[in-house]
Amino acid sequence: MSLAQRDKAILWHPYTQMQTAPLPIGITRGEGALLFSEDGKTYLDAVSSWWVNIHGHAHPHIAQRVSQQLQTLEHVIFAGFTHEPAVQLAERLLRLLPSNQARVFYTDNGSTAVEVALKMVLQYWFNQGVEKTKIIAFEGSYHGDTFGAMSVSERSVFTRPFQQYLFDVEFLPVPVPGKEEQTLARLQELLQHEDIAAFIFEPLVLGTAGMVMYSPEVLNELLRLCRKQKVMTIADEVMTGFGRTGKRFAMDSLTEQPDVMCFSKGITGGTMALGVTTCTQEIYNAFLSQDKTKALFHGHSYTANPVACAASLASLDLVEAPEFLQNLERITASHAAFAQELAGKEGIKEVRQTGTILAVEFEVGETSYFHNLRDVLYNFSLENGVLLRPLGNIVYALPPYCITTEQLAQVYQTMEGMRQLIVA
Ligand code: PMP
Repeated sequence: MSLAQRDKAILWHPYTQMQTAPLPIGITRGEGALLFSEDGKTYLDAVSSWWVNIHGHAHPHIAQRVSQQLQTLEHVIFAGFTHEPAVQLAERLLRLLPSNQARVFYTDNGSTAVEVALKMVLQYWFNQGVEKTKIIAFEGSYHGDTFGAMSVSERSVFTRPFQQYLFDVEFLPVPVPGKEEQTLARLQELLQHEDIAAFIFEPLVLGTAGMVMYSPEVLNELLRLCRKQKVMTIADEVMTGFGRTGKRFAMDSLTEQPDVMCFSKGITGGTMALGVTTCTQEIYNAFLSQDKTKALFHGHSYTANPVACAASLASLDLVEAPEFLQNLERITASHAAFAQELAGKEGIKEVRQTGTILAVEFEVGETSYFHNLRDVLYNFSLENGVLLRPLGNIVYALPPYCITTEQLAQVYQTMEGMRQLIVA
């Protein structure tokens, strides 16, 4: 029996449990931007396995550092103990982040990084006896699958079974070009209310909403308004962090600084699961007390796993190497040229690009996640040996930064092929 058949008999995958879902593709090996399947096919991973493998697959530097760490210290509980990889990673991360970020909290994935961020800001006010309990988030945003993260995400058919358990959130329209004034006015209105605790946002690009993009200038303005009203701000850089927007972090394009930041995905370059939430010293100070009930009651068994921290340190070596920013520039320029070439062609509604993120929106009738078009585009991309992520009538490429010029051309050819398929 093939890997795929054994899997189909007993495993439960995210999103693909439908009876009609095709067999999963059994992957046996990865190298650079490529994945190799058990049936001898090769796939170009142009989405970095959901924006995780930023340096491609099986990077030898990360593999070596991980293997070394496994032989030294694989795990120790982080309540009351510490270790070199955790301390060193925090030191190095803080050097790269906005200067007001002073404390690092470890978890296991993007959703829990967000969960901790929400708990931090809500308890920050609670510990001080201030009644600020409401969160503001963008319409269409996605911050994860856990209950808090679902609460601050777009309510959809996916969250419907849990609706009664999700907390109330004020949703703000995304300030896409032409809508900036509307968003600013709505935020000003919301900030009149005394009970607003925090504003959580995906900086510059809302991923799951369909790579919806907005400018650093308007985000600066939104953050300035929040700061004036003493409303905490949370930058969810789970997708945008570690190079996606063409800079190390999306927040590097801003002059304003957020109070809290969330990271995961690219943080270990796809080797180990790790989430990080960072915050200001001011937030941390609100939890420092002789009163034990003021502590942050959040801790996972795998918190600050040394192997995950070591993987992240190795990934940071690559992030801080000069080739890193050069690669970002190369991919950004290449994407921008293709976007310009494709925009305005028949069958294209819009091409959006920020840094290494490229999204093509096709001109078609009504679509949804369940629309057949998604499957048609997905199958087409796999037949062309390229792993892209279609969502309704939108297709994304967020390639690993080691992708070659020839491989980028293959991605664009596949997208152009999709356009021809749609207009035919
Ligand atoms: N925040 C953002 C902006 C994300 O894109 C995602 C994942 N797509 C998450 C949070 C949740 O991360 P994870 O899947 O690791 O739980």
